[in-house]
Amino acid sequence: MTKPYLLAGVVGRPIAHSRSPRLHRHWIARHGVAGDYVAMEVAEADLGDVLRTLPKAGFRGVNVTIPHKLAALRLADEATERAQRIGAANLLVFEEDRILADNTDGEGFVNSLRQGAPGWNPASGPATVLGAGGAARAVIVALLDVGVPEILLTNRTRATADALADEFGDRIRIFDWIQAGNAVEEGVTVVNTTSLGMTGKPELRVPLDGLRPGQVVTDLVYSPLETRLLREARQAGATTVDGLGMLLHQAVPAFERWFGPRPEVDAALRAAVLA
Ligand code: NAP
Repeated sequence: MTKPYLLAGVVGRPIAHSRSPRLHRHWIARHGVAGDYVAMEVAEADLGDVLRTLPKAGFRGVNVTIPHKLAALRLADEATERAQRIGAANLLVFEEDRILADNTDGEGFVNSLRQGAPGWNPASGPATVLGAGGAARAVIVALLDVGVPEILLTNRTRATADALADEFGDRIRIFDWIQAGNAVEEGVTVVNTTSLGMTGKPELRVPLDGLRPGQVVTDLVYSPLETRLLREARQAGATTVDGLGMLLHQAVPAFERWFGPRPEVDAALRAAVLA
């Protein structure tokens, strides 16, 4: 019997700039998988129809990106506990006529830090989280799960941060956005989950003079690879991890679920995705 041709992809809108096809195609070639990974631009009103049709066209599953992460969770027949806690899905697996939802962003975030900062000990002190949007939810759940003693959360819109603290419990301490510099100084782990600093967006302007050696500092923004936060952290002697690592690591469990082999995040993959 011939081996099935395995398909997967990413649905979002817009999708033209997604790096996921390059990422998965690098692994598809590396592991000699007979298959492909494609980017699909899908309107919100069509998402349900598209997801019910793709399995009939040979798709094993898809990644889900902006603006479909919440809807994908709602449309799935089953969801992992972590996807339910995060309240969004970035990975769908099609099994017979069922859609299973998962969220691997938090796992990708933690594995990126473990690889990029091998001495990182999340339990050694508080973690500062700048921002309280969708990505922050995945980061907060992951940090709580790996045992950070406390999360110092700060967001421009205070009410959004307060709502996260209500939802995720008493290990979260809120700082007003104007006090973000104090939160940066107090954290052992420091994470920017806002879109500030991204090419085309305003700069992250919170005071960074509290950055110091001993901290592990990361940014979810990966364009540019070295943001102002990461540059100042590096200059202050902190350990820095760029946001590309999270993108690469969140893809590992997805590739494994759809295609079989567990792929590696290495220099060749980074080069392929950045090319
Ligand atoms: P989101 O849900 O729209 O949240 C955006 C966050 O940025 C909110 O906290 C928002 O604060 C804050 N923000 C936006 N403009 C601001 C401004 N002018 N001043 C202060 N704060 C501002 O977006 P998201 O999905 O969480 O994504 C956030 C970033 O993470 C994006 O750059 C995305 O590309 C990146 N990301 C990277 C990865 C990766 O794998 N590396 C994965 C996921 C996301 P308010 O609540 O006050 O609006």
